[in-house]
Amino acid sequence: MTTLQDCRALDAQDPLAPLRAHFDLPPGVIYLDGNSLGVLPQATAARVADVVTREWGTDLIRSWNTASWFDLPQRLGNQLAPFIGAGADEVVCTDSTSINLYKVLSAALNIAREESPGRRRVVSERSNFPTDLYIAEGLCKERGLELVLVEPEEITASLTGEVAVLMLTHVNYRTGAMHDMAALTAAAHAAGILTVWDLAHSAGAVPVDLQGADADFSIGCGYKYLNGGPGAPAFVWVHPRHADRFWQPLSGWWGHAAPFQFTPGYQPAPGITRYLCGTQPIISLSALQCGLDVFDAAQPLGGMAALRAKSLALTDLFIQLVQARCGGHGLGLATPREHARRGSQVCLTRDEGQGLHGQGSGAYAIVQALIARGVIGDFRKGDGGQGPHKDILRFGFTPLYIGFEDVWNAVEHLRQVLDGAEWQRAEFNQINAVT
Ligand SMILES: *Cc1c(COP(=O)(O)O)cnc(C)c1O
Repeated sequence: MTTLQDCRALDAQDPLAPLRAHFDLPPGVIYLDGNSLGVLPQATAARVADVVTREWGTDLIRSWNTASWFDLPQRLGNQLAPFIGAGADEVVCTDSTSINLYKVLSAALNIAREESPGRRRVVSERSNFPTDLYIAEGLCKERGLELVLVEPEEITASLTGEVAVLMLTHVNYRTGAMHDMAALTAAAHAAGILTVWDLAHSAGAVPVDLQGADADFSIGCGYKYLNGGPGAPAFVWVHPRHADRFWQPLSGWWGHAAPFQFTPGYQPAPGITRYLCGTQPIISLSALQCGLDVFDAAQPLGGMAALRAKSLALTDLFIQLVQARCGGHGLGLATPREHARRGSQVCLTRDEGQGLHGQGSGAYAIVQALIARGVIGDFRKGDGGQGPHKDILRFGFTPLYIGFEDVWNAVEHLRQVLDGAEWQRAEFNQINAVT
């Protein structure tokens, strides 16, 4: 059984421990929600102030050239590329994940329409993040296609000759379960199906090899594990074999081959630049850059491989300690134990009927009681007993700034919240707008 002393020893030996100094973590907080909104990098406030006061305030419009604002989406894309297995000039940081999904799914459907017009289906997972399903639903409606939602174990069997695109999120937001990207992409390709991978819970969290997996399209989020700030620009990657084939539908002037020619007709830029739409949010992109810089600082310390090893050690420890110290309170585990199938988060479940006065699961109130103690995780609602999805207490472990002692302390708080029935207090059972 791992002790608090063991955890302190693990922190003392941790080669990634110096990275914590790259973040401004509020005192007294154990932040286990970096999978939802990453923390503030230490460099961000000064960088954003400089962009605002000097680049914007003093240099004004000249900064598009003098501060290289113009190619910031491409420069950040190149900075991110090595961490997701993409090549140079294959990624841009821009727009939101939802919007980028609209672009790449449209492009994939355009290719499918040309190559195999009889394929009328998009397949995804029923527990995919809702915005992905909503965007796909909208596109399918517009094009008279069918969105087919399946359970994870049904994916392979669903890859039939009627399917145009397989659209999956690599790491599931609810359970932390990770798909085998290479194997599923190979199975899809063998059936003549294109793949779209959402890396929202993967980029900066687990090693990703888009090129190695031979994926077709990918998108992901800038404000989760990449620590780009609330609503940070997202990213988009297109395999070079597809990049020049189609316009994406949001054919704005920033994706034009020569935007400052101001010609009336659209001529798409070569490569990934055509996935830009309009004028870019320079202040937000500058903040995202500070998040990416921390990953550059992690490279000499072992990079993604070292981050992954620590992430698995942290999540293993959390699972072990919860089981050993928080027994008898009806907690279950939704996250796979198998390393190859686990992202960088751990999700605990509670059954319906275990909440206050037998109402609900109590998971929401437990999370609220933890937050009141400074242990910030989050709650994701299940299907209220109508289907297979239980209420979830979700804890993200960002190895850039979470240590082993943090894990120990988080579990100790959870134990006290449960053993002392603290979660039953009325104030923790009021549901807020944002959960
Ligand atoms: C967080 C997340 C998003 C977020 O999309 P936004 O456009 O930034 O709101 C999309 N997809 C998945 C799978 C996510 O986890």
